[in-house]
Formats: sequence, structure tokens, C-alpha cells
Amino acid sequence: MGEPEHLRSTYNDIHNIIRGTSNKIASEFKPDMFIAIGGGGFFPARVLRTFLKDPSTKKNIPIQAIGLSLYESLPGTTVEQLNGEVVRTQWLGPDPGKRLLGRRALIIDEVDDTRKTLQYALNELQKDVEAELQLLPESERDSKRTKFAVFVVHNKLKPKLGKLPPNIPYFAGAEVEDVWLDYPWEVIDIEEHDRLAKEDEERKNITVDEH
Ligand code: 5GP
Repeated sequence: MGEPEHLRSTYNDIHNIIRGTSNKIASEFKPDMFIAIGGGGFFPARVLRTFLKDPSTKKNIPIQAIGLSLYESLPGTTVEQLNGEVVRTQWLGPDPGKRLLGRRALIIDEVDDTRKTLQYALNELQKDVEAELQLLPESERDSKRTKFAVFVVHNKLKPKLGKLPPNIPYFAGAEVEDVWLDYPWEVIDIEEHDRLAKEDEERKNITVDEH
């Protein structure tokens, strides 16, 4: 099997993709909290904050961090077992449910590949919320239930193994084929990365011109 095709994104590419989606997120979801999935979601969350302010206070939107690692699925693993493959390396501090109650929380990652990580993150955060809601009188629960949405810089167009419920707003900055994305924060030599990204871009333009 050959090397999978790579797509190199520069810091500027990512900044502009995020900028391009920020109005839609502001008007359609109005988050007042970001939950960045580390490490890939940290930089996108910080950039998105530049374009969005808390809708009621006009202040910066707080960024909470969670860390998740995806372990390769074993052959024969069913969708029900998916959550077992994602491992928490970091979670919201003490009383996670309390931090979330009443908020409009946007879960942020750099890429939606199989969607397992996003499914896991949403399920676990919703569990924290439901546990906290049980401590409130029943009449208050619905109004305090956290509203979640998802933002990814890139969504890979491929069959997804993880699922997100249809009532969860989903924002993707860009849709891409099923290629391997190289992010600028992963490389040691950023000048070389940018040079190669430019070369790829020029090659793509030549190919398009030829058709
Ligand atoms: P999932 O398969 O759960 O949607 O993605 C899990 C994680 O795998 C992502 O958060 C990301 O860290 C990593 N990942 C998936 N596809 C890519 C890719 O094309 N490039 C990079 N750098 N990481 C990826």
C-alpha cells in the first residue's frame, strides 16, 4: 500500500477557514463556552475566540480543555464498543457538570475523521450534565440542560464510525477528501512546511488549468 495522500495546511489557511465559519457559528449557535479537545483543538479554539464574543457579556469566551486519545480499533469491534477505544488524558476540573449547566458549549477539534472522538466527547459531557441535573428540582432541569454544538476545522468526507445526534448543530470550516492532513503545529520546520504547502497549491493549480 502506498503512502496516503497528504494535504498541508498553513497557519494562515486555518486562520482563514475559521474566520470564514465564525459568522455562521455566531448567528446560529451563539456559544458562551468553548471545550477544546487537545491537542489539535487548542489552536482552533483560540483563533475562533478572536472572531466571537460572549453574546450577552461581549467578553472573551472561556476555553476549557479536555484531552482525548484515540486507540486503533481491534478487528471485529462494534459501534457499541467505540467508547472503549477513546481514552481520556485530561478532563474538566472538579464538578464538571456544574461548570456546564446552563451553558451553550461549543466542542472544538481540528479534524473529524472517523467521528469517534467527537461522539465520545459529546456522550461523556452529556453524562456529566445529566448527573448534575439530577441534583436540581425536576422543574428546573430542562432550562439548565447544557446546549452543545460541534466545530471542526476540517471534516473528512468519508463514512463515519461515530455518530452525533441530528439535534446537535455541527459546523465544519472545510470539507476535504479522505486524505491525511498535516497541521502546522505538528511540524518542526515551519518554513519548510509552508514552502511545501505552496508547492502543493501551485501543482494543484497547474492540474486544474490542464483540464
Ligand atoms: P476521529 O477518527 O476520532 O474523528 O479523529 C481522532 C483524532 O485523530 C483527531 O482528533 C486527530 O487528532 C487525529 N487525526 C485524524 N485524522 C487526522 C489527519 O488527517 N491529520 C492529523 N494530523 N490528525 C488526524
